[in-house]
Amino acid sequence: MTGASPDIVIIGSGIGGATLAHGLVPSGADILLLERGQRLEPRPECRDPRAIFQRGFFRDAERWYDGDGRPFNPGNYYYVGGNSKFYGAVLIRLREADFSALEHAEGQAGALLLFPKGIDFDAIDGQPVHIVFGVVGPKRATGEHLRTLARISRLLRDESTRKQLANAESPKFAFDLIESHDQAAK
Ligand SMILES: Cc1cc2nc3c(=O)[nH]c(=O)nc-3n(C[C@H](O)[C@H](O)[C@H](O)COP(=O)(O)OP(=O)(O)OC[C@H]3O[C@@H](n4cnc5c(N)ncnc54)[C@H](O)[C@@H]3O)c2cc1C
Repeated sequence: MTGASPDIVIIGSGIGGATLAHGLVPSGADILLLERGQRLEPRPECRDPRAIFQRGFFRDAERWYDGDGRPFNPGNYYYVGGNSKFYGAVLIRLREADFSALEHAEGQAGALLLFPKGIDFDAIDGQPVHIVFGVVGPKRATGEHLRTLARISRLLRDESTRKQLANAESPKFAFDLIESHDQAAK
């Protein structure tokens, strides 16, 4: 903020207020973000689901009243970053290393995603995509990789197989269908 008269005042630094502030930055407007809570100091309870959910370690003890005048504790957390800070604190996090390239030590692994209604997957022909195969393996096993791609290509050449696979009612059905084609091709 540059002056004493901001263009925009946002109350609360939770996910709502913070997202709004972030989105408004490019506008060049003077933004004042008001937050009643303190910064959350790093401490073991910040990553302890029992402390957060069961013991209400960070929960304010305030009492609100419902329409019938009955008191209740709303479970608000008044800290910079708002309630999501606590929601986020207890989630399992992926490490930076989990996003880096990974080479499979041995063997191949595959994944099959099926979309009976089709999704936009940037296909060359612009058509919706119903079946996605993923195959990963060691860098040096290029021959094995190509053989697997050829097997997938043979499997998907037949339109009725494609339809059955895209509409498979269970993972087992899809697995059995692929296996029966593999056996027949041998
Ligand atoms: C333990 C826990 C688990 C949750 N789990 C999930 C989940 O699994 N999935 C999900 O989608 N959501 C979950 N939520 C809910 C999610 O965190 C909230 O929906 C979200 O935080 C709401 O964002 P918000 O910005 O509207 O409000 P808040 O995050 O509540 O932010 C409001 C901010 O305003 C501040 N404030 C309040 N009054 C004033 C005032 N008078 N002046 C200045 N500042 C003020 C507060 O201190 C706070 O920082 C969870 C919440 C908690 C607490």
